[in-house]
Amino acid sequence: MKSEITIVGAGIGGLSLALALEQKGINFRLYEQANSFEALGYGIQISPNVVHILEKLGLKKQLERLSHICLGFQLRSFNTNKILAEWKLDNKTPYYQCRRADLHQLLFDMIQNKGRIYFSQCLESYEQKDNHLYLHLKNQGSITAQAMVAADGINSVIRQSLFPQYQVRYSGYSAYRVILPFHRKYHFLWGKATVWMGKNHHVVVYPNGNEQSPESWLNLVLVIKERKSNDQSWSVPADKTALAQDFANHSNELNLILEDMIESPEPCFKWGLFIHEPLPYWSQSKVTLLGDAAHPMLPFQAQGAAMAIEDAYVLAQYLSNEKEMVEESFIKYEQARMKRTGAVQRLSRRNADIFHASGIKALTRNLILGLVSAIMPSLLNKRTAWIYDYKIENS
Ligand SMILES: Cc1cc2nc3c(=O)[nH]c(=O)nc-3n(C[C@H](O)[C@H](O)[C@H](O)COP(=O)(O)OP(=O)(O)OC[C@H]3O[C@@H](n4cnc5c(N)ncnc54)[C@H](O)[C@@H]3O)c2cc1C
Repeated sequence: MKSEITIVGAGIGGLSLALALEQKGINFRLYEQANSFEALGYGIQISPNVVHILEKLGLKKQLERLSHICLGFQLRSFNTNKILAEWKLDNKTPYYQCRRADLHQLLFDMIQNKGRIYFSQCLESYEQKDNHLYLHLKNQGSITAQAMVAADGINSVIRQSLFPQYQVRYSGYSAYRVILPFHRKYHFLWGKATVWMGKNHHVVVYPNGNEQSPESWLNLVLVIKERKSNDQSWSVPADKTALAQDFANHSNELNLILEDMIESPEPCFKWGLFIHEPLPYWSQSKVTLLGDAAHPMLPFQAQGAAMAIEDAYVLAQYLSNEKEMVEESFIKYEQARMKRTGAVQRLSRRNADIFHASGIKALTRNLILGLVSAIMPSLLNKRTAWIYDYKIENS
């Protein structure tokens, strides 16, 4: 019988792993520090590579029901509001946009054995001794585990224990997130993701929900490049009026959305974006890392949760090989995932430079985008085909 897998962290990565393991008949235990799930209302984009996996995990109908279908992208200048490029996606699998809390809840609902999920359990530290793992939980004493997956996010206690020299650092970017009830006047934003790009500022806007869902929302992410940020406590409430002033620009459409943001009772939070250098490896004996614990990335390719879900599915595939020891499965998983996640991390970083370009760089960017978009827009899909067309075959 394969080892029982102890998962730390019930974010999107940890829940995806629990679900994938359960469906492979592998026992798991999942420890989450929070009392329950936060009903964080912000949006999330789920690209075809990960929709493909979520469908394999049995979420096809539910995703269809609650998601907005993104058919393509539009890039605009933040300064002039000019459309710089627009193109349609050409994948057979849909690209969805939904509320993050809905996806989180869906994954949780799909897990049959909820008795294996323990809330209010915060891992403080762990030790590997005599072929056993000892997990020390805050106010709960210690438990033993056969094998452990760290899905505890960017500030992972387990990653810090394995790699104390890899400290998380502020990336130079912060994101403000807001949602607004979807209004008819936003109709020009339907069916796509729209990005306004400019020096030190960029804005991403996309709808959540669809015509059938009881409520639809407009998801707004305002990103600013600034040298300093709030501390790592993730999110601080933002002053919406000051934010709207800072982002005021030549787009009437965007300015109207910013005015609506001020009027709306929905809160707006500022999130410092943190990263660390790529790790040399993820697995040590019976411990491995997954999702943001292994490879935090800037959100500028909308792939952080996507990579966590891919990690989970691939790891469950390797663990389901009865002939292998858990340590071997961990190593194979790491070998299968490090190159791809590293490439997505780098692309996300490059996108930051592209979105925030100024001067001659911005002029060149605009020229290239204009030409490609007018002559051969399909080329813009080629840039991300290696991400979106990725298919994991069942073992
Ligand atoms: C502005 C912004 C927009 C984004 N948009 C997208 C997008 O559109 N698409 C996309 O794919 N990604 C997006 N992302 C990235 C995505 O949110 C993350 O990459 C993803 O949530 C990582 O999932 P995770 O499960 O690895 O970690 P997390 O979501 O951080 O989950 C970690 C879990 O572990 C728990 N935990 C932590 N420490 C402990 C402990 N010691 N003991 C027990 N439990 C613990 C936490 O409470 C949490 O539940 C975005 C990120 C940002 C900031």
